[in-house]
Amino acid sequence: MTFDFDLFVIGGGSAGVRCGRIAASHGARVGVAEERFWGGTCVNVGCVPKKILVQAAEYGAQAEDARGFGWDITAVSHDWAALIAAKDREIARLNAAYRKLLEGAGARVFEARARFLDPHTLAVGAEKITAERIVIATGGRPLRPDIPGAALGIISDDAFYLPKRPERVVILGSGYIAVEFAGIFRGLGAEVDLVFRQPRPLRGFDDDLREAMAESLAAQGIRLFPESNIAAVEAAGEGRVAVLRDGRRIAADCVFFAAGRAPHVAGLGLDAAGVKAAESGAVIVDQDWRTSQENIFAIGDVTDRINLTPVATAEGHTLADRLFGGPARNWNFAAVPSAVFSTPPLASVGLTEEEAVARGAVDIYLTRFTPMRHTISGRARKTLMKLVVDQASGRVLGAHMLGEDAPEIMQGLAIALTCGATKADFDRTIGIHPTAAEEFVTLRTRTRSVG
Ligand code: NDP
Repeated sequence: MTFDFDLFVIGGGSAGVRCGRIAASHGARVGVAEERFWGGTCVNVGCVPKKILVQAAEYGAQAEDARGFGWDITAVSHDWAALIAAKDREIARLNAAYRKLLEGAGARVFEARARFLDPHTLAVGAEKITAERIVIATGGRPLRPDIPGAALGIISDDAFYLPKRPERVVILGSGYIAVEFAGIFRGLGAEVDLVFRQPRPLRGFDDDLREAMAESLAAQGIRLFPESNIAAVEAAGEGRVAVLRDGRRIAADCVFFAAGRAPHVAGLGLDAAGVKAAESGAVIVDQDWRTSQENIFAIGDVTDRINLTPVATAEGHTLADRLFGGPARNWNFAAVPSAVFSTPPLASVGLTEEEAVARGAVDIYLTRFTPMRHTISGRARKTLMKLVVDQASGRVLGAHMLGEDAPEIMQGLAIALTCGATKADFDRTIGIHPTAAEEFVTLRTRTRSVG
């Protein structure tokens, strides 16, 4: 049988665009369907616009900090509409760039929804196409909790398009999105309440970081409601009331659900293709991203494994190379660095203390200090740095930081951990003075041994 395409990719986000582009550059006949926006969540309603909003929020704090350095800054105000317009211009530029990347590589793009008719046939908009291999890269969508009044709340997709900045926001959750938007709204002047189920925010991160994050959020004036949940949302005129499970009521302009994301498989017709999914909707794949149907693959957030853009692009790139003869790559998926763009940010690579102790005895090196900028600015902002070191081998198993520039610093440390650096390697590295980063190579005194 002759197929219309060697490879058809469903979804034009980080994973799908990379996979389609690399496959086309290897000479494959490639089609890519995207129904909503090129670049997917990351470019349109995720990482990129989020970082623009974080930077906007930080300017306010920096203007305040500048006073400590002798600047006479009398009035600081912010224009939300101007920020959203500037953000939208940048997103439109990137959106077009992603589409162009595919077309430039020779792929055919379809601005339409794709649905499986059988394992080799898809309905793409009004067209019916066939492909030898098909890649599902449809990503995820924010979840709305199943509670009364849920429709009165917003999700992260909406947060990027609010007509005006709310004065009071209640955010549900304490994962990446909740903590990042708490900092954004607070930094832009809103009152922010963070309601979450755990005793500390950011379940899954190192406990010392989580503790420091709770203190950092509180120091910014964000009110924390740990071990709590929202039972219902009520309308109150133009405003909203978040009703907590224990009966407390919080009035706000806006209730923001940042309670996780789920794989986006609705309407894909997985059954028609014989592709199996977990109860969560996650498409089940083996280590080569192959689904239960031999010619169909799935990459990125729709598999719900490590839901981060650089992982999605690495998966898309590797799959295209494997299918169409590119070079073999040896990504280190065992130590994927990640960052939470809170204010200040947090970043980690490798194991948490808890994870490391489960494997054997560890030495912990930890430091907490006020960065030089804030000894002058007077802002109550602490930096925390931590290394988790395997006692037997001396290898650094985890590096963690909360503080300014943490993501920039952690990217470099991720290389060291990928190379298997030991604490002795850190110790023989010369620092750059005066920086915060140099603390990672001058942590001489063990804080504790565990296990
Ligand atoms: P996360 O999985 O990080 O966090 C979800 C949060 O929602 C948790 O605090 C969770 O609580 C809470 N939650 C889940 N269900 C309920 C419920 N029924 N009631 C109350 N609370 C609930 O999800 P996010 O939405 O923040 O982000 C999704 C993913 O996107 C992240 O995991 C990450 O992979 C990616 N991302 C990465 C970013 C980055 O790299 N900077 C930025 C944004 C997103 P509990 O802990 O109790 O389960």
